[in-house]
Amino acid sequence: MSEKIGFIGLGIMGRGMTHNLLKAGFDVTVWNRTASKMDEFVEAGAQATDNPADLASKCDIIMTCVSDTPDVQAVILGDDGVIHGVKPGALVIDHSTISPRVTREIAAKLKAKGAAMLDAPISGGSEGAARGTLSIMVGGDADSFERAKPYLDAFGKTITHVGGQGAGQMVKLVNQILVVINMLAVSEALIFAEAGGLDLEQTLNAVAGGAAGSWMLSNRGAQAIVRDFRPGFTIDLQQKDLRLVLEAADQMGVPVAATSLVFNLYRTLQQQGLGSEGNHALIKALEKLTGIEVGAEK
Ligand code: NAP
Repeated sequence: MSEKIGFIGLGIMGRGMTHNLLKAGFDVTVWNRTASKMDEFVEAGAQATDNPADLASKCDIIMTCVSDTPDVQAVILGDDGVIHGVKPGALVIDHSTISPRVTREIAAKLKAKGAAMLDAPISGGSEGAARGTLSIMVGGDADSFERAKPYLDAFGKTITHVGGQGAGQMVKLVNQILVVINMLAVSEALIFAEAGGLDLEQTLNAVAGGAAGSWMLSNRGAQAIVRDFRPGFTIDLQQKDLRLVLEAADQMGVPVAATSLVFNLYRTLQQQGLGSEGNHALIKALEKLTGIEVGAEK
């Protein structure tokens, strides 16, 4: 018999993940800080709860997907946090992207209550959450990973156990380095194409299937050329992740020159009030520098 699942954080990502758990037939209980966001899930068969501790007292598997490190600390360790209701033997799975170091601290506190924890950050955007095709990089012990796998299958396609506690978050930071430098390449290439008078859609179609193809190019590049900067992942959240990369790199003494450049380019956009746009709006920083606007009406 499957275990009772609790899901905390019904935002852009958590929403799709929770709907997929319900679609797969699991018994799902939810909590979200803005309570009205729970309504659609109750209509779809989930139970709503009053706070994370209440949710934890009713569930065997507790998933969290909230914004930043302090937010995970709040929902797990805060006054009404998971830790105050969690049952011995429960498994907490954190899907947020947060500090690897703090992840290990939270896991130690849960362990003292008899609960296990996996860090299981995700990649694949809002589309991946809705379609159930996320990549999930999991840190923690092998038994907990095996226990979690049937539930992760509901919204994940590539689910990889990458090591012990915190390793999932470290791999996610590797992922973020690849995403933003890729978006920088997409931006520079599209500005070059625009300057050369090329048809941008045809250009994308021509290169997307070859060696230069990438998820960012096909999905976010395609959005950029029609100037659709609605967020799958906001610049503000992207900066949160890059800050985590820069912190970890600093701790290790590793230079991350291109990531630092992108971090500062995004900062120029935040200064212009564009932090709630999608991370592909990185192209706007290069447009400002070059004076060339991609895909604009001529
Ligand atoms: P989002 O749409 O902004 O949703 C954030 C969720 O966290 C909301 O449910 C919010 O509650 C809740 N929350 C934030 N702070 C909280 C606090 N202090 N206490 C309680 N609840 C809190 O963000 P998202 O895009 O789903 O991202 C969630 C996580 O997934 C982040 O760590 C992000 O880096 C990661 N991620 C996102 C993407 C993406 O493409 N969007 C991709 C991969 C990974 P309210 O509804 O009350 O605001």
